[in-house]
Amino acid sequence: MSLFTARLPVAAAALAILPAFAAHATAPTTDVAWDLVRDLTTQIGPRPAGSPAEARAREWAAARLKSLGFQNVAIEPFTMRAYRRGTDKAELVGFAAQPLAITALGYSGATPDAGITAPLVYFPTLAALEAVPDGSLAGKIAFIDHAMVPTQDGSGYGPYGNVRRKGPGVAVAKGALAVVIRSVGTDKHRNPHTGAIMWPKGIKPIPAGAVANPDADQIARLAATGQPLRLHLTLTGQIIDNAPSGNVVADLPGRDPTLPVVLVACHLDSWDLGTGAIDDGAGCAIVTAAALRAQSGGAPGGTLRTIRVLFAGSEELGGFGGEAYAQKHGKEPHALAMESDFGADRVWRVTTNFAPASDAVKNRIIAALNPLGVVPHDGPADGGEDVGAIIAAQKLPVVDLNQDGTHYFDLHHTPDDTLDKIDPALLAQNVQAWENTLAIVANEAGPIAAR
Ligand code: ZN
Ligand code: ZN
Repeated sequence: MSLFTARLPVAAAALAILPAFAAHATAPTTDVAWDLVRDLTTQIGPRPAGSPAEARAREWAAARLKSLGFQNVAIEPFTMRAYRRGTDKAELVGFAAQPLAITALGYSGATPDAGITAPLVYFPTLAALEAVPDGSLAGKIAFIDHAMVPTQDGSGYGPYGNVRRKGPGVAVAKGALAVVIRSVGTDKHRNPHTGAIMWPKGIKPIPAGAVANPDADQIARLAATGQPLRLHLTLTGQIIDNAPSGNVVADLPGRDPTLPVVLVACHLDSWDLGTGAIDDGAGCAIVTAAALRAQSGGAPGGTLRTIRVLFAGSEELGGFGGEAYAQKHGKEPHALAMESDFGADRVWRVTTNFAPASDAVKNRIIAALNPLGVVPHDGPADGGEDVGAIIAAQKLPVVDLNQDGTHYFDLHHTPDDTLDKIDPALLAQNVQAWENTLAIVANEAGPIAAR
């Protein structure tokens, strides 16, 4: 616990951090959250699910959590289906010949090393691809466009994200040789956005990539000319079965160890293109720092309930860590679950799934967040991928501290997801919002009811 982070209001804490950071960017600071995300993104860097780098991240995280005073620190291994990137290249050939900025999507099928060349057929939407007859794209590469726009609540990731999650499976049903999509992102940089495909069961994966938004604009303009397009596509990544992954779990024991634990989660893996700063190094930094501050900031001896942190492994390829946690810990009682996995922009909204019987607790949380500019919202709270399985198994109460998502999908799953994109002042606001919330739910003697 530092002088800076001890009990200052968020603005003062931010001011205290900023000059030190600006003047000595590489000098040691004493801010738990900043130090954690800085060191994870610097000393480990990219840590794809199931990779040796992810294993190094687990060892690193376990050591860091121990040094911060966490107890029962455990690495809990599991295996999963991984994806290892190969060569990613695409170029239009013939009419308007030019290279394109492309990334393979997670679980893409592979082309031969020399690539494939085929007609590129433009579909303005996923629905337009779904409307063509099955088998009609034999020997062709489907291109799926879409029109995602930024929103504060990030809700566009549901429908537009399906272009990536489900579009490749639809392309297989239509007989396509390969599929390319407009990146699921809202920036105008030549950074393609990767992310996992959800293939339907029993389907043989085809090569599948995403081009950067400016390249997708180019393809849309070229398609509008009516000229036939041809693409040379090389995606040589491999799907790897039974790759080693794992979770890191650690406790801050409460004063009454017989009470169910409060679970706070993030994910430790990242995509390989960037260093996983906003997705999701920031989340691990926020939950860890807030748990420590809630423990030390109230009654002597810490919070009433144990606060458990879960650094989940292999979230990006399908939430394997959250499933493994629920399998291993599903019989232990949990009081409540929360997750931080939406970057490090400011918390602007709080949502719960509390039953009316727990309105008093909900109202205390709302009041504690109000000075930070956080507004209440009635929408359903779901926690997120890493706590979803345990929430479903135990019908847990959840608090979602929603971060402003207006800029999140400019960076998400791109090479630009790096430490410099995190504003220390906004990171501090996140930690404060989480601390205020944990100080209530981890000191609540009675059960909190989910609706
Ligand atoms: Zn994430
Ligand atoms: Zn992600």
